[in-house]
Amino acid sequence: MARRALVTGIGGQDGSYLAEQLLRQDYEVVGTVRGSPDNSEPIAPIRDQIRFAEIDLEDAEDVRRAIRKLEPDEVYHLASASFVPASWEDPVGTSKVAAAAVSGLLDAIRRERPEARFVNAASAEIFGSPAETPQRETTPIAPQTPYGAGKAFGHFVTGAFRREYGLHASSAILFNHESPRRPPHFLTRKVTHGAAAISLGLEQELRLGDLSAQRDWGFAGDYVRAMRVMAARNDPDDFVIATGEGHTVEEFVVAAFQEVGLDWRDHVRYDQEFSRGSSESKALVGDPTKAREQLGWERDVEFPELVRLMVEADLELQRSQAASPR
Ligand code: NDP
Repeated sequence: MARRALVTGIGGQDGSYLAEQLLRQDYEVVGTVRGSPDNSEPIAPIRDQIRFAEIDLEDAEDVRRAIRKLEPDEVYHLASASFVPASWEDPVGTSKVAAAAVSGLLDAIRRERPEARFVNAASAEIFGSPAETPQRETTPIAPQTPYGAGKAFGHFVTGAFRREYGLHASSAILFNHESPRRPPHFLTRKVTHGAAAISLGLEQELRLGDLSAQRDWGFAGDYVRAMRVMAARNDPDDFVIATGEGHTVEEFVVAAFQEVGLDWRDHVRYDQEFSRGSSESKALVGDPTKAREQLGWERDVEFPELVRLMVEADLELQRSQAASPR
């Protein structure tokens, strides 16, 4: 019998890559989206192969009913607001899915399906302004945003259910991971979209904030693969999933403009509006040693290739949009 995986937030960047990988492994994939699945562009090519479940993740009873009915073998909790600055606009909503929903899912699994394997998508934002660089599983957790605080709760409660009830529950401390499926308001996509548009003569300049912030950027497909390995191994545990390599925003910008044969200095303008202050100036770089040694996980896509594949996808998208204007 095919294994059944429940993926919350399946319509997002990670959900779409995870669903593709699970389908290739002959899983039966059940997913949750907000609203209609037709509105989730990343899963458009595989929509027909996914079974959609309507679950109110903020309602513990509804979650419990769903787990009882669906009997999943694996549960991946990806649903969450993922744009960190926006969590200041909706701190309550953010904590409902990033934090409270994790408790709801774990409690439902404990009561209805204790053999199910659970993986929570935590975030490097749980480290706030980190006490050490690179960050590892033992780095003190001290979030500085509502998003980070919600993710910290989800991370802690996953460990709590694992220890208290012996659930196969793991938390993936995910560092930034990108792809052509990142929405355009995220920094990396804004840069690759801008570089592509400028090179095609569709836009003139790209306005960005501080270029010195350092991040650890990987490819989303590699990161969801790590989550699958976490579910598949015998022992549940928490893992930093990162590349271990820090790059500044400027390095990303330079690489993106090089891809289209332009000098970024001719096209990028500083704009105070996009500077996010102290919360952005920290260096978030993860140490993936534990994942490498215990999961056998390594990224396939390196930094230059990540930038290249994102720029190429944006060039293709904008060329096709220009060829068939609405
Ligand atoms: P996306 O924003 O692409 O996908 C998140 C999904 O969650 C979306 O489909 C969204 O639905 C859904 N969602 C958001 N809020 C709610 C809600 N209140 N109720 C139900 N569903 C909701 O993010 P990613 O795929 O990039 O990230 C997946 C997970 O990994 C998230 O939990 C994110 O916080 C975490 N993570 C991601 C990192 C990254 O660099 N990508 C880094 C660290 C952690 P809708 O489309 O309707 O908005």
